[in-house]
Amino acid sequence: MGEVKCPECGSKQLRLKDRRLRHPRHEDWGLRQTYLELETKKWHCKDCGRFFWQRFPGILARMRASEPFRQAVCQKHFDGISRSRLGRRERISPATIERWFGVWLRQKAGERISVQCPQILGIDEHFFTRKLGYATTFCDLRNHKIYDVVPGRSEASLESYLARLEGKDRVEMICMDLAAGYRALARKHFPQARIVADRFHVIRTVNHHFLGCWKEIDPVGAKNRGLLSLMRRHRQNLKPEQYERLSEYLRRYPALESIYRFKQRLCSLLLEKHHNQKKCHQLAARFLRYVADLKACQLHHLVTLGNTLDSWKDEIACMWRFTRNNGITEGFHTKMEVLQRQAYGFRNFNNYRLRVKVLCS
Ligand SMILES: [Zn+2]
Repeated sequence: MGEVKCPECGSKQLRLKDRRLRHPRHEDWGLRQTYLELETKKWHCKDCGRFFWQRFPGILARMRASEPFRQAVCQKHFDGISRSRLGRRERISPATIERWFGVWLRQKAGERISVQCPQILGIDEHFFTRKLGYATTFCDLRNHKIYDVVPGRSEASLESYLARLEGKDRVEMICMDLAAGYRALARKHFPQARIVADRFHVIRTVNHHFLGCWKEIDPVGAKNRGLLSLMRRHRQNLKPEQYERLSEYLRRYPALESIYRFKQRLCSLLLEKHHNQKKCHQLAARFLRYVADLKACQLHHLVTLGNTLDSWKDEIACMWRFTRNNGITEGFHTKMEVLQRQAYGFRNFNNYRLRVKVLCS
């Protein structure tokens, strides 16, 4: 234990005033609960006149549990044992666990705090609660970490957060889905960063409009789940017999057939990656021709698609050159969903944010 010193002035000139037994809870021994028995003394410092109770390493002032025990409980709760269950097992109240856990999380989040913005940023939305709606995820795509989660997905709700973010000039590349709000924010707050469209979302948009168009041409066929699954797939993922079935159907609708061929060509163009600048120029020319075709046709679904692709053409062109995508962010979203379910939902966004920051980094 070493010598007792005055916490105020460090003097060893002390006078004993009182003694008492303390019984702090300590780490479990197997399934048995453990209590320490410590004799603590009250001292009076002759130099500065202060009275104090002797402290023990590993037990904070006025705490009835040792630090190792608190750590162990927090770790168990973090690993997925619910508060009520853990409380019954350890004979402490669920509210105590919640309080300890809050302190522990803040400590952990403080350890891995990164003030600077990531160099490669992924922005995406995810659902939080019915009351608060959506939240926006900022992901560090280089280091595979969640940088932050912010409530809301509109420009208005993110504006104040982005305005006080530090180190924004570090961001070199931003990956996002085809959301105009995010793009406007990115252009305003990260003017030097290159915006890259997320391939998965681009192809999903193409598919979405194409299926809408199909519903107009043949409302009955579009409800057939088997055909729907065949229509959605890329040509190279279809087995010969599946392709045969699809062609048989398409032969009955020549207009649809040509639209389908067009969609396949467009998707295979969008799937291109790892190209140099020269090749990208060629691809861009092809892409612009497709967009012009879409805009010139009479079907309103395809015209809408043409307009969307036209407004995102720069970001899509970046997609051929750089392979960054939001796959990592989507992966974290799955993890965050699990986290929400484990906690039986969050009401307080700050608690959620703290947990996400600790768990997803
Ligand atoms: Zn003193």
